[in-house]
Amino acid sequence: MQLSLPHPSLQALQAGRWFKLICGASFQDLPAIRHLATAYSLAGADCIDVAAEPAVVAAARSGIAAAKPLLAAAAQQGYKPTQPWLMVSVNDGEDPHFRKAVFDPTICPADCPRPCVTICPADAIAFIKEKQGVIVDRCYGCGRCLPICPIQIIGEQKHLSTPVAVGELLKTGEVQAIEIHTQPERGEEFLKLWQELSGSLDQLKLISISAPRGLEGGLDHLRSISKLIASLTPTPLIIWQTDGRPMSGDIGMGTTHATIALGRQVAAAKLPGYVQLAGGTNHYTVDKLRQLKLLKSAGQEVFVSGIAYGSYARVMLAPLFEQIPGNDKLAEHPDILWAAVDRAASLVQQIKS
Ligand code: SF4
Ligand code: SF4
Repeated sequence: MQLSLPHPSLQALQAGRWFKLICGASFQDLPAIRHLATAYSLAGADCIDVAAEPAVVAAARSGIAAAKPLLAAAAQQGYKPTQPWLMVSVNDGEDPHFRKAVFDPTICPADCPRPCVTICPADAIAFIKEKQGVIVDRCYGCGRCLPICPIQIIGEQKHLSTPVAVGELLKTGEVQAIEIHTQPERGEEFLKLWQELSGSLDQLKLISISAPRGLEGGLDHLRSISKLIASLTPTPLIIWQTDGRPMSGDIGMGTTHATIALGRQVAAAKLPGYVQLAGGTNHYTVDKLRQLKLLKSAGQEVFVSGIAYGSYARVMLAPLFEQIPGNDKLAEHPDILWAAVDRAASLVQQIKS
């Protein structure tokens, strides 16, 4: 009898070498999502996490599919390409990942130096002939523009996941994983969302639970969730995503400290499943984990099994994608494609090596 190996993404989790790309729970820039999915598939990502919307999922699937005929070429060049799992993100209550900036550009003073444009890491605010104000698809809710406006006209529009639509999306079988953003005090809200999704969770390979800082006293919430997940048949894998300093990895090296501290705390709690960092992760994260002996190795008791990168991973490739005209696919521009794969691989291979 021939034994089949586990999927490479599962092997990566088991080995403590898991890499997830976060496109963003509110990010809807379809060409960028397609390009990111292609580049990070060829660079060896294990999972790509996107907004729970059919158009966004279709764009990510199209990007992953575009990488397929290039897998051999990538391997020949020394990369370790994959066909990653696709994950969609939902929330059980208010969460900064699920919001958009909003303002009326017609009331901006003509002499405002436009600090909102400068600070936005996603080029999501424009004052050009074609577009004035927030470019909604690009905004992923980082919130950096909110306090910077001198006349305080930038607000936020929050949104809550719609379980019926998400359930329909899960039933298509096009995604392998879901991530639920929750908080320690939201037991009832989590249960309500769980019950609403329950008929559509049984095909999933993986459920990720994303929780922010302030978990002190909140580990009981995670333990209750692990019991709910264990009651599913077949039982999916569990990832505990420690969201230290949300959407901040591109700001500076030090943003990674909060998620490492939280990751250590959750890993020490020995919940069933895997612990994965997010929120403030960047090129410094793996070095820091190594220094602190928090990467998995023989005999290691407390460790994290993977890292998710969001704003940092996207910002690294954004200048390359700006060179792609119109609706062209990344693969139509080989120079840009392989430059993007090279940059992406410089991040992915940190945890892999
Ligand atoms: S700074 Fe952040 S919240 Fe503001 S528009 Fe840009 S992406 Fe959206
Ligand atoms: S900082 Fe405020 S006033 Fe100035 S351009 Fe931006 S939104 Fe308008």
